[in-house]
Amino acid sequence: MKYNRCGKSGLLLPQISLGLWHNFGSVDSFENAESIAKAAFDKGITHFDLANNYGPVPGSAEENFGKILWHNFQGNLRDEIVITTKAGYTMWNGPYGDWGSRKYLLSSLDQSLKRMNLEYVDIFYSHRPDPETPMEETMMALDHAVRSGKALYAGISNYNPEQTRQATEILKQLGTPCLIHQVKYSMFVRAPEQGLLDVLEEKGVGCIAFSPLAQGLLTDKYLKGIPENSRAHNPNGHLRIDEVSEERIQKIIKLNEIAQQRNQSLAQMALAWLLKDNRVTSVLIGASSVGQLNNNIDSLKNLEFSADELTAIETILK
Ligand code: NDP
Repeated sequence: MKYNRCGKSGLLLPQISLGLWHNFGSVDSFENAESIAKAAFDKGITHFDLANNYGPVPGSAEENFGKILWHNFQGNLRDEIVITTKAGYTMWNGPYGDWGSRKYLLSSLDQSLKRMNLEYVDIFYSHRPDPETPMEETMMALDHAVRSGKALYAGISNYNPEQTRQATEILKQLGTPCLIHQVKYSMFVRAPEQGLLDVLEEKGVGCIAFSPLAQGLLTDKYLKGIPENSRAHNPNGHLRIDEVSEERIQKIIKLNEIAQQRNQSLAQMALAWLLKDNRVTSVLIGASSVGQLNNNIDSLKNLEFSADELTAIETILK
């Protein structure tokens, strides 16, 4: 594993991080989840990303991760692992279990720590901007989480460039720099290139790309239809069947040909393609098996692209 500095901070993150949005809930196989997490750590993936609502049921990914952590990574290993969580989406009933109030963020963080049996997380994120709550209040909650020792760093997710600028400036004034922005970015989702990456670079904030495989579309999984054991087929999955469109499949087939010419799987090429930009600190993958995880980690063997390859990829993606 190689480790990149997260923005202008002291924290190094692995180029590949593991997310627990899918495959770690109470509906999933605990043994499979445990073997994925253990295999990841053995390969140098030191960063595990959670959120209060990951499951299903919401909260169960944190509970399962807590069990995995204490069964396998106890003692000093806590200091070798970066664990992150978030609050911002619907978590509990009533007016205090959603969005960006101080009330929600700080009580949610306490609940997350309890579920994982931790004293602190490494990064606590505002999961999404709240149009109704003053940005100052949300950022003060992150700052408080850090000052109270319940989080080591503060992060934001799904903020647009202008919101990101505002959030980083408020956090800086408060004395808790914004460490990282977690953003949806892949060959199929190019929005971060429209200003966000520039703001992050200017502000010295790291960037971690979530759903870098477009939830599995940027792999060889859907080349011959929608398999039974795929996220698109999974009733608990967030990839809708209509997102596996014929237009997408045609692009995937052509991208797969370029990947083969590079002696890579399409998943490996899709991850390498993100990591070629040194503003991208880490790619935040999901995996439903140890085999997928290992395949994805092997992307690090070839992160170089020729100008011709990049042009060919852009032509397909247009
Ligand atoms: P990916 O785009 O990496 O999709 C992962 C899925 O793709 C896997 O579960 C698997 O699905 C399939 N897959 C992965 N590798 C391979 C392979 N080598 N060959 C074939 N199929 C493969 O990421 P996710 O969408 O899972 O997101 C990753 C993480 O990002 C989340 O766990 C979460 O931590 C974070 N995230 C953050 C969000 C935010 O708002 N901040 C929102 C969404 C995610 P299958 O079941 O089909 O096998």
